[in-house]
Amino acid sequence: MLTSLERLLRASTVLTGVQAAPYLRDASSAEPGMALGVVLAGSAADVATAVAWAHAQRIPVVPRGAGTGLSGGASALPGGLVISTERMDRIIELRPADRLAVVEPGVVVDDLDAAAGQEGLMYAPDPASSATATVGGTIATNAGGLRCLRHGVTADSISALQVVLADGRLLRTGAASRKNVAGYDLTRLFVGSEGTLGVITEATVRLLPIPEGERVTFQVAFPTTAAAGKAVAAVMASPITPDILELIDGTTAGIIESYSPSGLSTAAAATLVGQIVDPHARRLIDRLQRLFTDADGYDFRASSDDALLVGRRNAFPALAARGMGVSWLASDAAVPPSRLPELLDEIKLLEASHKRLISVVAHAGDGNIHAAVSADLQNPADVEVGERVVELIAAQAVRLGGTVTGEHGIGSLKRHLLTWALDDTSRDVHQKIKEALDPLGILNPGRGI
Ligand SMILES: Cc1cc2nc3c(=O)[nH]c(=O)nc-3n(C[C@H](O)[C@H](O)[C@H](O)COP(=O)(O)OP(=O)(O)OC[C@H]3O[C@@H](n4cnc5c(N)ncnc54)[C@H](O)[C@@H]3O)c2cc1C
Repeated sequence: MLTSLERLLRASTVLTGVQAAPYLRDASSAEPGMALGVVLAGSAADVATAVAWAHAQRIPVVPRGAGTGLSGGASALPGGLVISTERMDRIIELRPADRLAVVEPGVVVDDLDAAAGQEGLMYAPDPASSATATVGGTIATNAGGLRCLRHGVTADSISALQVVLADGRLLRTGAASRKNVAGYDLTRLFVGSEGTLGVITEATVRLLPIPEGERVTFQVAFPTTAAAGKAVAAVMASPITPDILELIDGTTAGIIESYSPSGLSTAAAATLVGQIVDPHARRLIDRLQRLFTDADGYDFRASSDDALLVGRRNAFPALAARGMGVSWLASDAAVPPSRLPELLDEIKLLEASHKRLISVVAHAGDGNIHAAVSADLQNPADVEVGERVVELIAAQAVRLGGTVTGEHGIGSLKRHLLTWALDDTSRDVHQKIKEALDPLGILNPGRGI
């Protein structure tokens, strides 16, 4: 069946069987279906051809970047076609005077940032997976990251897109100008759409000057997670926006330190780690220290290198080494920063009432909590309890004015939570947009909305 497609493609390779296997799952626990095949796309024209071919035969299409997603969004569908953009990895144009770059979707985030760095610029979004995640995948999930607190999430860095629509037509959204209000903001519509509205084949991204000044990194311990949450709320209520402000609870600090010692306190209930890059960094850090002390922070340390951030960067590998995906269920709830203490308190209560180990790491300034809930994934009854805890964390986040996913997306794993995040009217509008752009429902069906 795929031979007819292969004949149409000019710059792409079609994989089936064992060759296709590395492209069928993402980094989540979602089980992939038996795909028809995988297109390693080499050009936007070929993506358009493959999507039009799938459209004609009503075959589901799963767009794919690097497969680092944590919500099952890039996991293959039974009888479906995976379209991987990882080979479309050209930085087409760097335009320092416009603070823009035009890139193909398969460019790795760190590679784009490094290329911008040659011009004294940076590409701000920096998910912890930036060494492998692609620009296309991070746009499709609207990824966040450590320095997104100061510089905004992926959506804030996207100026224009080229997208292959469900019927194979090429759509251009946005413009390369800094300002543009012609028509609806279709660029934003595709950001975070998780491959359900189109396949991104080119992006015009905004670059920022690399911040000047002294780089000061800090760490401070707290007697409770809620006290650390209060300190975060106090920082966000002040005029200071750190470049990075992350929270690591004591459970996670213990896991990180036994994975690779980095000097994190394992005795503290929580540690905040962060960074300020500013000509007045030392003065700002002094002000932060006073806010932390007022919130019962202790053992404050500051450094002019990145050493104090190493532990935070090791959090995911340390959890993975402890069986992430085997013995943990992940949550990604987000709340307004002022409500962080309440969510952290609730997580502690759930930990005690459900007899679970819960590891918490948070993009704290953004109010985005990654709570990993322990569960024996071989034991369905135990998984049920763990999933209930993940749901209760999400429900509490919604009650506090937040949402069920801050950056990983709904994918296939969080669809049961969607009704809490979107009311009936909102879901209806979502469905109408989906029907307008993909009436046959071939684009990543069963994911996202
Ligand atoms: C160690 C680790 C750390 C992480 N840290 C963070 C973090 O700090 N912040 C964060 O936000 N996420 C994080 N993630 C999750 C993940 O890296 C992000 O969701 C990332 O944006 C996925 O990019 P990808 O290229 O791997 O996309 P994939 O996983 O391949 O795909 C993700 C989604 O995007 C869609 N998609 C991919 N490419 C396209 C395209 N060209 N057009 C349309 N749709 C497309 C897919 O269908 C899927 O729904 C982390 C993951 C890991 C494993």
